[in-house]
Amino acid sequence: MQVTRSSLKTTLGSRDWFTGSVYIDTVAVPSGGSRISASLVHFTPGARTAWHTHPNGQTIFVTEGIGRCQRRGGPVEELRPGDRVFFEPGEEHWHGAAPDRFMAHAAMAEVDEAGRNAEWGEHVTDVEYGRQPA
Ligand code: MN
Repeated sequence: MQVTRSSLKTTLGSRDWFTGSVYIDTVAVPSGGSRISASLVHFTPGARTAWHTHPNGQTIFVTEGIGRCQRRGGPVEELRPGDRVFFEPGEEHWHGAAPDRFMAHAAMAEVDEAGRNAEWGEHVTDVEYGRQPA
């Protein structure tokens, strides 16, 4: 057992991977036999991830606010607290806040053999982001 007191700094999401301001608190990092990578992510209004995939899939669980997500080729979906989304391994997608609301979610994914939990692509354009949720 290892207790980590609330001492880790909140980090700003990389500009390479996010549009807008996103704040990340690390919940779990892979170590030893555990491959789970987990974080709590706060998106400011309009902020979102770039398009990306997860080698072993990802679960997000919305804890606050109003969000958006989309898989490539699918409609933009609105997300609310208590909503959970599983993205399939290799399924290209993005997730983020609504244009005028904050959104926070927990995110959990298993890393691959190389320790990666995501492959990042291009940013989500304003046109892609601006589509009305289904
Ligand atoms: Mn994702």
